[in-house]
Amino acid sequence: MSERKVRVRFAPSPTGALHIGGVRTALYNYLFARQHGGALVFRIEDTDSHRFVPGAEEYIIESFKWLGIKFDEGVSFGGNYGPYRQSERRDIYKKYVQVLLDNGKAYIAFDTPEELEAKRKEVPNFQYDASTRMSMRNSLTMPKEEVDKLIAEGKQYVVRFKIEPNEDVHVHDIIRGEVVINSSILDDKVLYKSADELPTYHLANIVDDHLMEISHVIRGEEWLPSAPLHVLLYRAFGWEDTMPEFAHLPLLLKPDGNGKLSKRDGDRLGFPVFPLEWHDPKTGEVSSGYRESGYLPEAVINFLALLGWNPGNDQEIMSMDELIKLFDLHRCSKAGAKFDYEKGKWFNHEYILMKSDEEIAQLFMPILKEHGIDAPMDKVVTVVGLMKGRVSFIKELWDTCKFFFVAPTEYDEKTVKKRWKEDSAARMTELADLLESLDDFSLAHQEEVVMKWIEDKGYHMGNIMNAFRLTLVGEGKGPHMFDISAVLGKEETVARMRRAVEVLK
Ligand code: GLU
Repeated sequence: MSERKVRVRFAPSPTGALHIGGVRTALYNYLFARQHGGALVFRIEDTDSHRFVPGAEEYIIESFKWLGIKFDEGVSFGGNYGPYRQSERRDIYKKYVQVLLDNGKAYIAFDTPEELEAKRKEVPNFQYDASTRMSMRNSLTMPKEEVDKLIAEGKQYVVRFKIEPNEDVHVHDIIRGEVVINSSILDDKVLYKSADELPTYHLANIVDDHLMEISHVIRGEEWLPSAPLHVLLYRAFGWEDTMPEFAHLPLLLKPDGNGKLSKRDGDRLGFPVFPLEWHDPKTGEVSSGYRESGYLPEAVINFLALLGWNPGNDQEIMSMDELIKLFDLHRCSKAGAKFDYEKGKWFNHEYILMKSDEEIAQLFMPILKEHGIDAPMDKVVTVVGLMKGRVSFIKELWDTCKFFFVAPTEYDEKTVKKRWKEDSAARMTELADLLESLDDFSLAHQEEVVMKWIEDKGYHMGNIMNAFRLTLVGEGKGPHMFDISAVLGKEETVARMRRAVEVLK
């Protein structure tokens, strides 16, 4: 088994936006594939035409492009195992359904929805299985001629998997160990429907994993209940030697740990559960995305990687390359992972700090433009360098930094009351004159001259600095004063001071 070339797949059904849990599944598949020099396949499982949502496939592809998760093969990527969209593989599935019919592992059933409903009413806890199948209308209970006749007449039917009862089915799961269930609890699952000539998820999934030579099935915990059925299907086909290994990932839980994370939790608590903003084509509803909310893709990747896995120590910041080296399915937890949204913000903050001031300035530029500010790049880079440590999102830079780009028109009342003294107007006029007289307006020189002036005059340092801040910022916050005045430059600094004196007197 270990000799086998690693081939894994991410196989979403295009039923809407990709949930953040699905993104994590794809990420783990990607890390696993890269680490083993294997291939990651992108397969679209669209055999349920009722649930198809236009645009979903494109949305999923764009999401991974943004996140930097690359596929080696699949829909839109090409490869030698295609087509990779299940709706384009009808003939393949038909052939394999016939294989199961021919070797007696499956049978044809004509029971109509009404007949099934009537049975459910008649028999408590009715399940279509070994205990009931012989009382139903199917190819096990009807003469062959009649079956052929009904099919020739165009009667609709399904193909059901004939599950042998009373057998322990073992699923080897890399994360969960040995999972055993008794086959008697399984029903004779529908594998194929004549109505749309399409297989169901179970059959298509197994046939494709086999034909695409998938070595490991890494997927969400919600698929664990299907795994015994899948094991039985591999056996029915005689493919047990190439059966993939399973790893069912832990659920993503609500922030308080009570139940599965849902889109509603995101709406309620104000965080996205989708990678990109999603416009639902049916309802017109718009759901927020990590990209549009101002997340850096690297931060999202790092955050998701640690939801259900850890490297065995308390290292938290890891690049994609490090994750590829360190990731280990054996270190994934069985227990669900709480979705700690605050932690996600913290990661974003850390990644903003790690990026160069130039990179962050590039991302901040469009936001400045939106606010009508056309500032030179070197100024934006300096401001970002001073202020990026204070934000978790790039868009927060606007509120934090806008005084660098627009002069205050109002002065915060509380700060004025507290900081603007009897003599502040006189002192600020004096300081403005002093600053205006400087040829060298560098931070260091300003600081030296102003400190000396305060000392010589015996002024109160705190009072001067507080009033100075109020004139330039309009309130009592911001970085070191001379950082601000150096960025603003002499002309703007002096103008702001004189205007404040005018207004506050
Ligand atoms: N189409 C399934 C989904 O939407 C794939 C499950 C699996 O990976 O087997 O998640």
